[in-house]
Amino acid sequence: MNMNTLLETRSNQTCELCSSIDENLQAYAVPPRKDDSENDTVVLCNNCFTQISANNFSDTNHWRCLSGSIWSEVPAVQVLSYKILGKIATEDWALEAKESVFLTDDLIAWANAEDELESAKVIPKDGYGVVLETGDTVILTQNLNVKGANFIAPKGTTVKKIRLVPDNAEQIEGKIEGDTIVILTKYVRKSV
Ligand SMILES: [Zn+2]
Repeated sequence: MNMNTLLETRSNQTCELCSSIDENLQAYAVPPRKDDSENDTVVLCNNCFTQISANNFSDTNHWRCLSGSIWSEVPAVQVLSYKILGKIATEDWALEAKESVFLTDDLIAWANAEDELESAKVIPKDGYGVVLETGDTVILTQNLNVKGANFIAPKGTTVKKIRLVPDNAEQIEGKIEGDTIVILTKYVRKSV
């Protein structure tokens, strides 16, 4: 969302987190909300915006500003403050600030939603951390005892056209000697 009069007035043309006056203030929609409403949007200075976009909150001193912004009258500002405080909660003051304010369940759910979506994503990877996709060819990195089929697929066996298993990043399916079997992703290497 572009900065508009409503946001300019609300923010008093300062960063709504750290109060910096910045020529490049920008409107930031607090994920997973999209930027189609001012209510979902926080006005940020370039410094805050850059750190948030990079998901890097190691400059904890900068974020002391959140002890103030968590009390904002703007729910989106509270949610964003709460969210960042959660990421630096190893700092006592941050934990204290986070717990000092009462947020409704709705706002807390909003603050946690992005991380929950992220952790719910199932991304199967091979034993070396390479992302696997349906149709890939993999090579077994261990002898595989194929239960039920009564044979051992030796290490080095190529398995073509694997299929991902929905909601399970630990397993893939593939055909070995005509049998479709479940293979643990940690015991394969993606063939390139
Ligand atoms: Zn700022």
